[in-house]
Amino acid sequence: MHIFRELYFFILRKLEHFLPARRLIIVNDDSLPEKIPLRSIILARDGDEDWCIGFKCPCGCNRTIELMVIDEACPRWDYCIDHNRLPSLHPSVWLKDGCQSHFWIKKGRVIWV
Ligand SMILES: [Zn+2]
Repeated sequence: MHIFRELYFFILRKLEHFLPARRLIIVNDDSLPEKIPLRSIILARDGDEDWCIGFKCPCGCNRTIELMVIDEACPRWDYCIDHNRLPSLHPSVWLKDGCQSHFWIKKGRVIWV
């Protein structure tokens, strides 16, 4: 089954610009939900405090990527949401272990580095 999964994500990467952009889903919590739907980006917001942003690694390795957006965190990421609710993140995401994916998220789309 492994080969099918790799093929599936290979095709998804090629089709990235033809697929609907990832929209931001806001959950009222200080942590991410256990299950994160493919191609969605979750923002964990507790009251008026944003804690973290999470999504499945777009390479298909099935890892959940969690990026801290709370002010005190280091490292931390900035995000913005445009008028279509499409999120962008700054800086880029670079996984130093595992799949070592390196990409930007701009307007809900993954841009591979
Ligand atoms: Zn990955």
